[in-house]
Amino acid sequence: ATPTALLTGTGRGAQLGILIKGPQILESTRRVDTVVLDKTGTLTTGRPVLTDVVTAGSLPEHAALKAAASVEAGSEHPVAGAVVDGARERGIDLVQAEDVVNLPGEGVRARLKDTEVTVGRPSLFDVVPEVLVETLERADGTTVLVGWGGTARAALTVADTARETSAAAVERLRGLGLTPYLLTGDNARTAAAVAQEVGIDPSDVMAEVLPQDKFARVQELQGQGRVVAMVGDGVNDAAALAQADLGMAMGSGTDVAAESADIVLMRSDVETVADAIGLSRQTLTVIK
Ligand code: ADP
Ligand code: MG
Repeated sequence: ATPTALLTGTGRGAQLGILIKGPQILESTRRVDTVVLDKTGTLTTGRPVLTDVVTAGSLPEHAALKAAASVEAGSEHPVAGAVVDGARERGIDLVQAEDVVNLPGEGVRARLKDTEVTVGRPSLFDVVPEVLVETLERADGTTVLVGWGGTARAALTVADTARETSAAAVERLRGLGLTPYLLTGDNARTAAAVAQEVGIDPSDVMAEVLPQDKFARVQELQGQGRVVAMVGDGVNDAAALAQADLGMAMGSGTDVAAESADIVLMRSDVETVADAIGLSRQTLTVIK
């Protein structure tokens, strides 16, 4: 293979919105047999909608939503976008948040006037009232909690839908000889529902995985002798993208994901993953 021929392959990729960071990467695409797909923003649209607000005690819904959205205004996470939009649609004005701390894969924390408010996973709270526990167990979608002083005060449910193209894309990846896995920080129930919708086996779903552990999951699969492509969009995917034999980032995602990846997909759907692997393999065939 001459370097020129390889570069032509990467140039063709650029035309299709597939940015391949170097000709040496084409070789990895031939060897991959496993594709690990992030859920939020990759298999799903990543633009969830706020569907439900449940509060504990006498806290009014609008007060819970106002606090949550004011904190989430400082986060880039898809859940944050849904909460902020949900508040705006309900005519709720946000207040200025100070000292915003993003907790990747967990939530976000900030000070509103004199109160430090946390929004995110249940594990961020010491006390979760029964009514919120029930909401977490029952809700369809991703439920995050908002609270202060260590106590959760309300549950916000957001629902994200699979991209229309995801099921067909997963089918195409199987056609290319790849076994698809789903890897997510989200809860097991939501993960299983998306897996079923797109055609990933229940036994190949890895849910409630913290960002630092996404990397370890990729490593484990490699330890089993698999050659792993990882597809993701978030800050939380960056280490796993770098660890994978082939890291692929959604162009609509975060810069740090794009920087950690070997291939950046400008059109953000899993179809492009199949296009990229197919194209790279074709290019290799042509130049052999
Ligand atoms: P995924 O792996 O599906 O992209 P993440 O690892 O980014 O998901 O997030 C995992 C979980 O952490 C989310 O489902 C949510 O419960 C919680 N979370 C992360 N960031 C936020 C945020 N800004 N606001 C609320 N919850 C969050
Ligand atoms: Mg994601």
